[in-house]
Amino acid sequence: MPRWSQVFLFDRTAINRIASAIPISGKTVLEIGAGEGVLTAALAKNAGARGKVVALEIDRSLSGKMEKRLHGVKNVEVNFVDAVKFDFGGFKIIFGNLPYHLSSKILFKIIDSNFSRAVVCLQKEFAERLVAKPGGREYSRLSVAAQNACDVKILFEIPRFCFVPIPRVDSAVVLLEAKPSKGRLRLNQALVAALFQHKNQSIRKALMHSRKALGVDKKILLSLCESMPLREKRARHLSLDDFAALSEWFESSILANR
Ligand code: SAH
Repeated sequence: MPRWSQVFLFDRTAINRIASAIPISGKTVLEIGAGEGVLTAALAKNAGARGKVVALEIDRSLSGKMEKRLHGVKNVEVNFVDAVKFDFGGFKIIFGNLPYHLSSKILFKIIDSNFSRAVVCLQKEFAERLVAKPGGREYSRLSVAAQNACDVKILFEIPRFCFVPIPRVDSAVVLLEAKPSKGRLRLNQALVAALFQHKNQSIRKALMHSRKALGVDKKILLSLCESMPLREKRARHLSLDDFAALSEWFESSILANR
């Protein structure tokens, strides 16, 4: 994997399809991982004079190429910062051909921010995990967190040869649309993470294995085992509602007894 996951888009059609995935005219857009600024320029054009692109890039050595590409473009602000440490708080619209080694971290950061729509280019396998349904091989903690917070859709795929250098994997562009907070279920993320660590075991067994990570006493767990919902099911088969029921039980009985 190249340093900082630098695989730059050069296919014009792909760049324009990403930049036009949702209407952004007159809007402020946050772009994560601007690279040499190809997507930045397309976004700036679509945002128009009354809109703006705030671009983040960690690698200062790209500033020369970026300046050249964005020469004369007035509605772009480039920040050479680590996106992981940057506050996404004020941004409603987020774009990015994300650095693949940070996809998960940045995705969780987007989900936890106050965004409304995000268009992100991701490794195809990662995109498939985001949209995976219960029972599928790709179903993961990420699927649960993303689908609880957002409507998630794969818009289109981008083959590897649209990038330089050519990566070993294909990509997919995903649209995330935040659900209103009342449309989200209360999930205990630590519990969900622990259950997916043992996703092929029954919930009862998975919880026993994870009790240290969750800071739960064995005796308490055993004594409350009878009331545990879905205890013979496996995490890989649980729906969002199932996770919410388990989270509720976990917090009201187990954590309350700790
Ligand atoms: N948007 C560009 C580049 C995508 S490659 C294009 O489509 O061509 C991903 C970019 O993210 C790289 O330029 C890489 O330097 C940058 N990047 C990697 N880690 C980062 C981080 N922590 N914060 C901000 N940018 C980062």
